[in-house]
Amino acid sequence: MITRRFSHIYIEEAILDSEVIRRICTSFPNAQQVPIGHYKDVFCRKRQDFRLQKRTPKLILAMKRPPFLYSGSANCDSFGNHSFYYTSSMMNCPYDCAYCYLKGMYPSANLVIFVNQEEIFEEVDKRLAAHPLYLCISYDTDLLSFEPVTGFVDSWMKFASRRPDLFLEIRTKCAFIRPFLSRPALRNVIVAWTLSPEYVIKNYEMGTPNLAARIRSIKAVMKAGWQVRICIDPVLFIDNYREDTSWARHQGTDLKVWERIYQGFLDKVFMSLDGDRLTSVSIGAFRMAKDYLKRTRRRYPCSRILHYPFKLNRNGVYCYPPSLENRILGELAKYAARFVPLEKIRIFTSSIP
Ligand code: SF4
Repeated sequence: MITRRFSHIYIEEAILDSEVIRRICTSFPNAQQVPIGHYKDVFCRKRQDFRLQKRTPKLILAMKRPPFLYSGSANCDSFGNHSFYYTSSMMNCPYDCAYCYLKGMYPSANLVIFVNQEEIFEEVDKRLAAHPLYLCISYDTDLLSFEPVTGFVDSWMKFASRRPDLFLEIRTKCAFIRPFLSRPALRNVIVAWTLSPEYVIKNYEMGTPNLAARIRSIKAVMKAGWQVRICIDPVLFIDNYREDTSWARHQGTDLKVWERIYQGFLDKVFMSLDGDRLTSVSIGAFRMAKDYLKRTRRRYPCSRILHYPFKLNRNGVYCYPPSLENRILGELAKYAARFVPLEKIRIFTSSIP
C-alpha cells in the first residue's frame, strides 16, 4: 500500500466540485489543490525532468476521454482470449521499477487518476452486448496500490459480479488485499501477482512490498477462493550486470548465478504456495518497445539493466538475444514444473529474430 503524500493536487476545473474528488482529496489533507483546464496542461508540459518528478510526483485528477478501452498489446500474453482489452484508470505508478516501460512512454512521472469510472463501465457494457470480454484493469499502473485512495478495484468487483461474460485481470505487486477479503470470490476475476526474486525486488522494484509480503497476500486471497495467477515477468538476466560485486566474486559463471537466484526464488515461493491451486504461472523475459527503451535509456543513462545490448525483434521490440531468452525461460519453466502442473505454465516469448 502506498501512502505517499503529495504536495500538490492538480484538478480539472470541470470536476472540481464532485464527490469523488472530495473523497480522494481527503487522503491528502495537506496537499495544495490547483485547478487546471485539462490534465495535459500539466502532464504534457515541455522540458519536464522525469527522474526528479519520480522522486516527488504530483497528483492530477482528471476526466478520461474516449477511447475508454484499448486492444491488448502484442507484447503481452492474451492467455488465449480473443477479445483482449485493457483500460487505464490511472497513468503512471506509485512504484518505481527500474525496468518499467512507463519511464519511456510518458512525458511526465506525475500520477493521473481518471475519476469518471462510470463512463468506462458504460463502454464495457456496450462491448459485452456484442461478445465476452477479457479486460485487464491494472495496466500502465498498479491499481491496487492506490485502492485505499480510489476504491476503484472495489467498484470493478461490484460491476463484474453482475456480468458473467466479463473476465477481469487485476495485476499487482501490492500486498493490500481488502477488496478480495470483503466479498465472496468471483469466478470471472483473476488476481495476477507479479513476483520476482528478493534480490530483484530490493535492487530494481523500489517501493514495492517484499516477496514475503506478496506471498502472504497471495496465500490469503487463494484461501478466500479467488483465482490467482503468478507472473514471473519480466525475468531479468541480472547476473550479467554484476551490480552486486560480492555475487560476482564468490559465485560461478553468469548463468549459474542467475539460476541460483531464480531457483532459490521459486523454492521460496512454492514452499508457501500450493502450485496445484494456482490458475496459471506466466513467465516472460524483459522486453521493451524500441522508442520507449530509447527514451528510458536517455532518462536513466547509468542503469545497467536498461543498457544491456538487447536485440531488436521484427516487431520493433528490444529483448534478450533469442538463445539467451530461450535458455532462461526454458530453465525457469523446467524448474517451475517441479511445483506446478506443466499445463498451467505459460511462456511468453518475444525474441522473434
Ligand atoms: S509495478 Fe508495474 S507499472 Fe508500477 S512501476 Fe513497477 S513495472 Fe511499472
